[in-house]
Parts: sequence; C-alpha cells; structure tokens
Amino acid sequence: MSLFDRAIVRVLPAVPKQAVQLFSSRYIAGSTLAAAVEVVRDLNAGGKLATVDVLGEEITREEETRAIAQSYRDVFAAIDKAALDSNVSVKLTALGLGLSYDLCRENLLDVVRTAAGYGNFVRIDMEDATTTDATLRLYRELREDGHENLGVVLQARLRRTLEDVRSLADLRPSVRLCKGIYLEPAAIAFTDYEAVRANFLRCLDELLDAECYVGVATHDEWLIGESLARISRRGLGTADYELQMLLGVREERRDELVAEGHRLRVYVPFGEQWYAYSLRRLQENPAMAGTIARATAGRVLRPLRP
Ligand SMILES: Cc1cc2nc3c(=O)[nH]c(=O)nc-3n(C[C@H](O)[C@H](O)[C@H](O)COP(=O)(O)OP(=O)(O)OC[C@H]3O[C@@H](n4cnc5c(N)ncnc54)[C@H](O)[C@@H]3O)c2cc1C
Repeated sequence: MSLFDRAIVRVLPAVPKQAVQLFSSRYIAGSTLAAAVEVVRDLNAGGKLATVDVLGEEITREEETRAIAQSYRDVFAAIDKAALDSNVSVKLTALGLGLSYDLCRENLLDVVRTAAGYGNFVRIDMEDATTTDATLRLYRELREDGHENLGVVLQARLRRTLEDVRSLADLRPSVRLCKGIYLEPAAIAFTDYEAVRANFLRCLDELLDAECYVGVATHDEWLIGESLARISRRGLGTADYELQMLLGVREERRDELVAEGHRLRVYVPFGEQWYAYSLRRLQENPAMAGTIARATAGRVLRPLRP
C-alpha cells in the first residue's frame, strides 16, 4: 500500500457520500429487495449460493429494529417465491443489540422462526469486540432452545477466538470463519498480518476436528489454499464445508473455485443504509481508496464546488 493510499484510507470518512456510493456500488446489490433477488438469481445461475444481508447497523430506535426484522421476513418470502438458493446474514446491532438484549433476542427469534418456516437458515454476523460476548451468549441460548437453523461468525483477528471455538464445540456450531474487519487493540487482537493468518488456520483445524460445518470466508489466496489442503487431508466431501466471498471481490477466482467443484457462497448486502458497509469495503481496498481520492480531487467533486 502506498503512503498516499494509506493516508486516503484514514480520511475516507470525510469523502463526500456521493463519491463513496459511486465507488462502492460493486459491493452492494442495490437499495431494493428486487435488486438483491436479481443479483442472487445471477449468482445461482453461475453455480454460486448466496447469503442476503439487509443493510442496517448501529440502529437507535426500536421501530427501526422491528422494520429490519420485517425486511428479513420479506427476504425469506422473496427467496422462496423465486426458488433461490440463499440464506440470510443478520447483524445483531440492526436487530437492537445496542438498545436491549431482550429486544434483540425477540427480533432474532422472529427471524429464525420465519427462516425455519421456509426451511431456511440464519447466520449471525460478528461485529466489533464489544458485541462478542452478547452475540455468543444469544447464539448459545437459541441453539439450546432447539433452533438448529442458526450459525455464527468467528473472527481470527481476536485472541479469544480459539477459546471461543472450544467453548462452542458442544453445540457443533455452523461457523463462518473470517479474519475480522474491525480493527481492535493489540490487547485483544492480533495486529500482525501473519499472526491473523496463523490463528485462522488454528481455529479452522479445531473446528474441523470438532466436525463443525465451516464457511471459510476469505479472499486471501494463501489462506484459501491452506484451508482447502486441510479440508482435503480430512477427506471431507463438498457438502461438508463451503467457501464464502463478498459481492464484488475476486469474481474470477470465485468462478474458478466453483468450476473446481467447491460450494461457494456470496455475501449479498442490499438496502438504503449502504454507507457504513461501503466504507469498510473501501477501507479494505486501498487501491480503490486511492482511485476515489484522485477522482474526488477532480471529476466527482467538481459539481459540489461553488
Ligand atoms: C462472506 C464474508 C462474510 C464476512 N463476514 C464478516 C463478519 O461477520 N464479521 C467480520 O468482522 N468480518 C466479516 N468478513 C470480512 C472479513 O473479516 C475480512 O475483513 C475480509 O474478508 C478481508 O479479509 P480477507 O480474508 O479477504 O484477506 P485480505 O488480506 O484482507 O484480502 C486478501 C485479498 O482479497 C482482495 N480483497 C479483499 N477485500 C477486498 C475489497 N474490499 N475490495 C477488493 N479486493 C479485496 C485483495 O486482493 C486482497 O489482497 C466477511 C468476509 C466474507 C468474505
């Protein structure tokens, strides 16, 4: 990453929203459910599975959390109607975790029960480290209450994650394993690139040893190779794991992996609240951040100037 790009990543939140929207459109299916359905239909036609995310996080009013739960009911109905191969991903802060644990639990139960009615599945995304305890507690409570159609996400960046893998093992959880997008302090997180990779593989080994279904969520070529080698050494079949990628990232590689016979799921976010998600994607893509800066200094910003 060049010094210039590094600087841009830091100032990205100050970039006008219209510029962010322009450059992040590849990461978002659109603002409507109909747009998300079309994207999932195309992915399915290309042999890929999907997980649909209704954008919305850090919500501050109870009505908004109920509206998000309603949106998920609409998503399940649309998936069913169009006979799509897709589950959903939910953020607990969108369902009210920041307001009250009980409200969030109620909304999550609503989504999980709706999913069960359609024979579908809900994955709880993992957010920043302030939410990890509550997320894992809620996951355990619902699983212990018999809700089997529920999975969780673990972040290799966090030092606690191997311990979390061990303490969840009795539930044989369905886990999406990712590096973790939220940059946490060194006291609780690995900050070195190679240390995060090493922890990813340690967690993957333990999850596979515990016979968990794992969604290996990374675009890191080295990690994809190491993960597939571990899966192959254990003699797992293609129904025993899946690879996962984000919409708009490494599309050619996605196609190759599907052609090689792997199940591959694409994360498909949609909705009006695209901004926070877009910023995180652009911050992960410094070359793109540099492009934004150049464009912002010229064409994109020009109409905004007096
Ligand atoms: C399906 C899925 C679900 C996820 N869910 C969560 C979650 O619930 N909680 C959470 O904290 N994190 C989540 N993440 C994000 C994840 O934690 C990482 O931040 C993200 O995947 C980047 O890490 P990486 O493993 O791809 O490796 P990196 O080293 O970051 O990336 C490897 C390569 O992938 C390419 N790449 C990666 N990101 C981009 C991008 N935005 N634009 C263009 N190219 C890119 C680049 O070529 C890069 O060199 C999810 C990721 C995926 C794929």
